[in-house]
Amino acid sequence: MAERKVNLADVAQAAGLRTPIRHQLFIGGQFVDAASGETLATLNPHDNTPIADVALAGAADVDRAVEAATKALPAWRRLAAADRGRVLLKLADLIEANAEELARLESLDTGHPLRDSRALDVPRTAACYRYFGGMADKFQGETIPVEAGFLNYTLREPVGVVGQVVPWNFPLMFTSWKMAPALAAGNTIVMKPAEVTPLTSLKIAELMREAGLPDGVVNMVPGLGTVAGQAIAEHPGIHKIAFTGSTATGRKIVQASAGNLKKVQLELGGKGPNIVFDDANLVAAVNGSAWAIFHNQGQACIAGSRLILHERIADAFLDKFIALATSIRLGNPLDATTEMGPLTSQLHRDRVLGYVKVAREQGGEVLAGGKTPDGDLAKGCYVEPTIVRAKSPRDRIAQEEVFGPFVTVLTFKTDDEALAIANGTDYGLGSGLWTMNLPRAHRFAREIHAGMVWINSYKRVNPGSPFGGTGLSGYGREMGFDAMREYTQVKSVWVNVDAQIPPWYPR
Ligand code: NAP
Ligand code: MG
Repeated sequence: MAERKVNLADVAQAAGLRTPIRHQLFIGGQFVDAASGETLATLNPHDNTPIADVALAGAADVDRAVEAATKALPAWRRLAAADRGRVLLKLADLIEANAEELARLESLDTGHPLRDSRALDVPRTAACYRYFGGMADKFQGETIPVEAGFLNYTLREPVGVVGQVVPWNFPLMFTSWKMAPALAAGNTIVMKPAEVTPLTSLKIAELMREAGLPDGVVNMVPGLGTVAGQAIAEHPGIHKIAFTGSTATGRKIVQASAGNLKKVQLELGGKGPNIVFDDANLVAAVNGSAWAIFHNQGQACIAGSRLILHERIADAFLDKFIALATSIRLGNPLDATTEMGPLTSQLHRDRVLGYVKVAREQGGEVLAGGKTPDGDLAKGCYVEPTIVRAKSPRDRIAQEEVFGPFVTVLTFKTDDEALAIANGTDYGLGSGLWTMNLPRAHRFAREIHAGMVWINSYKRVNPGSPFGGTGLSGYGREMGFDAMREYTQVKSVWVNVDAQIPPWYPR
């Protein structure tokens, strides 16, 4: 055992946890230390105190995990689909039975307000496993009407051993989006959680074991992206890699996957346009736009981070929007009345604050926030809700993903101008628009470069509805039937049913 620098029991008690915090790798159904014995502390972003020293996987541990996943694959893929589904359904029940524990652990490690972890992260995680648990035996091949005398049908087979690398912004939920369809389809998994937020992934591994998931079907290797993540992306024993994170890392994954031509699925950054037309219901648009950017401290790839306002309503909208933003209750995520917590790491907080400087340098006007709060919260990773008016849609703050509680305001006069601004980045993930004009709403839904469009709403997700992007936001889709297609490959089977002796060439 590696030496513990933190007293886990004290930390757990202070956070209201009832069960032990898991801090080891999960390989072949066992919690184990890293081969090197190395650990890395995961911190509480509320005050930057250590929570736990977590085993740090290296390439040797990834090898062990791939070995376990390879060994587990034949039996898991041959299991009746309904029986794989049953394990996922049991897991969904266990997640609900442990909801408060998971919510507290997620809030402690990530800074998500407890009210969000309770109301969104945990229920959505359970719903995802339940949806794909039910999907397992309903996803099927086809029979195809080919030439006379032949039966042609397709099999949907698992891809094999799947590597999954996830970020720190929604660790509990994102691991379910990746693991649930992969498992329903009969794959086995080597997953790397983000180095700053490994705790709920390890807890899920414990619950998976309790749900009866066979050893080795899921392996968790928390570690550094450049070490464990890179080892997964390069590994010749891994047949597919699914990644969520930055566009820069996505590119590295594609390059690393070239060795054995892994199948790649990428869910990358975004710069979500959120357009408010002059006929919008302003109260709904103000509330929805605040949700679009400030939920989860703006750390969402689909965040509505470009607020594109019709000139005629811009001032009225901003008055209300600024009033709402400055009234948001910032505080300790474990306090159930907190509406906005800290960013998930100090490094990231500094990156977000760096964009306030960039905004000012390019002539942007800070309308609210733009700094860390004073007082007690100053020692945590907090940033006040920040609203900045950009001079031009070409400014860096209107082009680059900030990934924080930072919204860039732009204005337009005509529909064409609004569309040009909305489509004026290289990203294409989430998008939203607020209007009562039905033809306009559908026209924009058709013309916007994005994977998701929310009309008179923003940031809705559901396990049945496809999620993913275009352009630099990546490719492939999570959720729904599309996710099952991503985690399977089609085999076409030809049967000569008339049992004729086939001729060589007609002579
Ligand atoms: P990131 O570097 O892309 O991290 C995402 C995941 O990839 C983490 O698990 C990371 O490990 C791992 N990783 C890093 N380098 C790798 C490599 N060479 N090979 C394989 N895996 C690797 O993102 P980040 O640094 O956490 O955040 C930076 C920016 O990414 C954010 O500001 C935001 O713009 C964007 N982002 C987008 C999303 C999204 O949902 N689309 C989520 C998070 C971040 P470590 O934990 O060790 O870094
Ligand atoms: Mg942490």
